[in-house]
Amino acid sequence: MEFIDEKLAAYAENHTSPESELLAELNRETWAKVMMPRMLSGHIQGRLLSMFSKMIQPKAILEIGTYTGYSALCMAEGLAEGGMLYTIDINEELEDMVRRYIKEAGYEENIQFHIGNALEIIPSLPNHFDMVFIDADKENYANYYDLVFDKLRPGAYIIADNVLWSGKIIDEKELAKDKETRALDAFNKKVQEDPRVENILIPVRDGLMVARKK
Ligand code: SAH
Ligand code: CA
Repeated sequence: MEFIDEKLAAYAENHTSPESELLAELNRETWAKVMMPRMLSGHIQGRLLSMFSKMIQPKAILEIGTYTGYSALCMAEGLAEGGMLYTIDINEELEDMVRRYIKEAGYEENIQFHIGNALEIIPSLPNHFDMVFIDADKENYANYYDLVFDKLRPGAYIIADNVLWSGKIIDEKELAKDKETRALDAFNKKVQEDPRVENILIPVRDGLMVARKK
């Protein structure tokens, strides 16, 4: 489901800085070779993540759900001097492609790619993040939120993707039958009710929940 009119979406794209040639190539290669290419953030969301990162100027970013690395490369654009982006994916088949693009983008010193289950890897990571992007299995969003919370500096941001779940999030039938929809709804409510953060649900693309630790 598209949330906004096709022509308006095209207009917005045409008035957004283009993606780099390398990101365009990663986008094309993902669509040509990888399963479920719709999961890739893409032009508009990629530029938004890059812009957020440049606003935050994070020293440390955590990404949960690398996929082919598109969103990681976008967020890395805003890292502070000497900063590090840690990104985790459970799918080892993605490894060669992700490492190739990290190298090509010149981020070998700034992106640490971990393969494995994020629930197991997060506790072994450093303790101070300025920005976290949650974009892996939807049923664990609330668990990821709890796992990272104490690792966030005051003023740090958590951004969670797909929180409107193609509109299913307000569909009673989907909520009744689909575990992922229910998990995302529970996550959105958890953030909304958490007095430790201020938050905004931005209805861009598939919905981004942005929460700032007070
Ligand atoms: N952030 C990417 C898209 C991520 S797609 C982008 O915007 O371009 C979601 C990814 O989460 C998939 O690659 C999947 O393998 C990964 N994933 C699912 N469950 C996971 C888990 N438990 N731990 C780590 N990664 C997981
Ligand atoms: Ca996503």
